Amino acid sequence: MPDHDENRHYRGRFAPTPSGELHFGSLVAAMGSYLDARSHRGEWCLRMEDLDRTREVKGAAKSILLTLEKFGFQWDGEIVYQSQRNAAYTDAVDRLLAARLAYPCGCSRKQIEKRADSGAEGAIYPGTCRGGIANGRTERSIRVLTTGQTITIEDSLQGLISQRLNREIGDFVIRRADGYHAYQLAVVIDDAWQGITDVIRGVDLLSSTPRQHYLQRLLKLPHPEYAHLPLAVDDRGRKLSKQYKDAPVDPARPIESLLHALNFLNQPLPPQCPDSLEAFWEWAVTNWSLAKVPGHLQIPAASRRNLKSLR
Ligand code: GLU
Repeated sequence: MPDHDENRHYRGRFAPTPSGELHFGSLVAAMGSYLDARSHRGEWCLRMEDLDRTREVKGAAKSILLTLEKFGFQWDGEIVYQSQRNAAYTDAVDRLLAARLAYPCGCSRKQIEKRADSGAEGAIYPGTCRGGIANGRTERSIRVLTTGQTITIEDSLQGLISQRLNREIGDFVIRRADGYHAYQLAVVIDDAWQGITDVIRGVDLLSSTPRQHYLQRLLKLPHPEYAHLPLAVDDRGRKLSKQYKDAPVDPARPIESLLHALNFLNQPLPPQCPDSLEAFWEWAVTNWSLAKVPGHLQIPAASRRNLKSLR
């Protein structure tokens, strides 16, 4: 586990994508990040990742916020909406282009698939437009130049993770052909802008972390601490049923869902059912221990294949 300086100012966050209602998996991510922040007497920020309007479900952002409120989560400061942060992403892309750390690409998905090797996250871009847009093509997306350097990250729950981006991922897209900035870029810009020191989220995002670490390095941004929470198994290692994991949580019975989530994170449960949300949170914050969260877990196959755990 990395050493934590208990005196540093802690700022955590929860960053849901409004592509549906809050479900059990996102409640677990919200709770893990919230409890870790509050137990460090830190702040907890909310960011609505509504960057990709094609994935947004109407009303989902509002419903997520309402549900979080009904569960008694209290966030600090204004909610950040990625849909309003376009200028910051454009500026970062321009800086990378000017430094020749990124380049315009004219290849379509089909053209790439014809020539590319397949990596854990799909086709590894073969570098066709690295030296300039290939003849007869026009600019579609912007890609960041990757190198063979090994990126190593110490995740508080998953241990050491390493990846060679050029071999395992390839030059990845930071601005998509449809004009939207990519999640990998936006998340890095916003975590830095919001002063996030600790990122606690689901293990499905573990395989994105080396790309984010790399972008932080290129853009000279600080690296937060990372902890990736388990998915899909409960504290006894039993696989959760799909319905249970994916079902929207019931804001009408918040304490029940909160206790389930706390149990999932392998935290001690209160001796009696708390009679209020305040009582629940007081117990949960006082008794929170990130070290108790199971780290050995079922990493989805897509994340596991391109990550080499050095543990
Ligand atoms: N918006 C992402 C999601 O809902 C989370 C991003 C992050 O925590 O970095 O899965």
